[in-house]
Amino acid sequence: MDKQQQSPIDIQSPIVTTYVNPLQIRWSQNPKCSLKTQGGKVEVVFSGDVKEKVSFDGRSFYLWQFHFHHKSEHWISGKQFPLELHIVHQNCDPSDGGLAVLGVMIKADNSANRIPALVEAIEMTCKHDSCEKLEIETNPNEWLPPEPELYYRYEGSLTTPNFDETVSWVVFKEPLGLPRKEINRLIRFAAKPARLPQPLHRRFVLANFS
Ligand SMILES: [Zn+2]
Repeated sequence: MDKQQQSPIDIQSPIVTTYVNPLQIRWSQNPKCSLKTQGGKVEVVFSGDVKEKVSFDGRSFYLWQFHFHHKSEHWISGKQFPLELHIVHQNCDPSDGGLAVLGVMIKADNSANRIPALVEAIEMTCKHDSCEKLEIETNPNEWLPPEPELYYRYEGSLTTPNFDETVSWVVFKEPLGLPRKEINRLIRFAAKPARLPQPLHRRFVLANFS
C-alpha cells in the first residue's frame, strides 16, 4: 500500500487547538555528544542518556541526534527557509519504535549575536581531514527559536529512505536567526539535501497558537 503519512509537508491552514499535554523540553546545558560523518555531512550524536528528554501527548522521548538540511524540508505557508535543524529523539519506551523530531527553521539575520558554540566546533573539526570527533559538549538549548512554546504538530515520516511512518513531528512557529556567514558554514559541512513537501492526504496539522 502506498505510504500516506509522509514528511516533510508544506504547513498550511493548521487546526488551532489547546494542548492537554504540551511540549516540555528538559535538556541539560552540556550533554556529551560526538560528531560523526554520514553521507559526507556531519551529524551530532548524543550519548543517549535518558536525562535529556522531551515529552508531549503523554509520551517521553530521549535526545538522540542533530542534523541539518539545506534548504528547509518543511515549508510554512509556502515559504522555504535556507536551513532546517532536526533534533531527533527516540521513544523512552524501547518497545515503541517511534521517534519525535523537533524541526527548527533557520533564517538569515545578520544582527543575530547569539551563535551556538556548535557551529564553531563543527567547522574546526571538519576543516581538517575528517569530521569525526569523539567527545564534545554542546548545549541543545542554544538552538531553540524565540517562543519555543508555539509550534505545529503532525504525524509523519522519516524524510530519508525507508521513509518509515514513525515520526511525531513538532515544527516550531518561529525561525531561529543566524548570520548568513554562520548559515553558510553549516551548509558547507553539515547540511543534507532537502526532500520536497509531500501530500497531506487525510491528516491534520495542529497549531497551539492562532
Ligand atoms: Zn532530517
